[in-house]
Amino acid sequence: MNENKNSKLAVYPGSFDPITYGHLDIIRRARNIFGQVVVAITRNFGKNSFLDLKEREKLVRQSLDELNLQKNVKVDVFDGLLVDYLKKINANIVIRGIRFISDFEYEFQMALINRHLYSKIETVYLMPDERYLHLSSSIVREIALLGSAPRDFVPACVASVLSLKIKKTSRIS
Ligand code: ADP
Repeated sequence: MNENKNSKLAVYPGSFDPITYGHLDIIRRARNIFGQVVVAITRNFGKNSFLDLKEREKLVRQSLDELNLQKNVKVDVFDGLLVDYLKKINANIVIRGIRFISDFEYEFQMALINRHLYSKIETVYLMPDERYLHLSSSIVREIALLGSAPRDFVPACVASVLSLKIKKTSRIS
């Protein structure tokens, strides 16, 4: 009972391909609850990533700077199972964002599987501001691929990397 917010470490895992204002809204909310938040970028997620790990990591760091969210927020990358990463850094709180009921089914399954693998895990779900309910990395990638800079949805540093990347790809093909 005497543990305060400052002693709590929470891990926010994801692919962040790329990071959006929705993710950043969740990071801000998590930071208001927990003393330290680690944004943990998965190296090996099932889908083929649009941005490579180094690009995703750099954009997470730059976005945190751009929104002045660096305080008490760390960025890290991990391989393999989330539970192994949590054990490695001695954490047991996982943050996930929930937008719609459709997110819930997958998230619920993941939370229970993770808890089966590591009984100490608690998964905390946060809801973003309603402005970001419709927002996902895949929508942002689609907008960029269709030739528009998704400036309303991602920090300027992300929008400019996406625009550059799309230009390069269209020059090659
Ligand atoms: P993953 O591939 O692990 O789902 P993502 O980077 O797509 O990785 O998402 C990481 C977490 O952030 C997930 O819990 C996802 O539901 C949440 N998230 C993504 N976009 C938003 C958003 N616009 N608002 C709230 N949560 C979001």
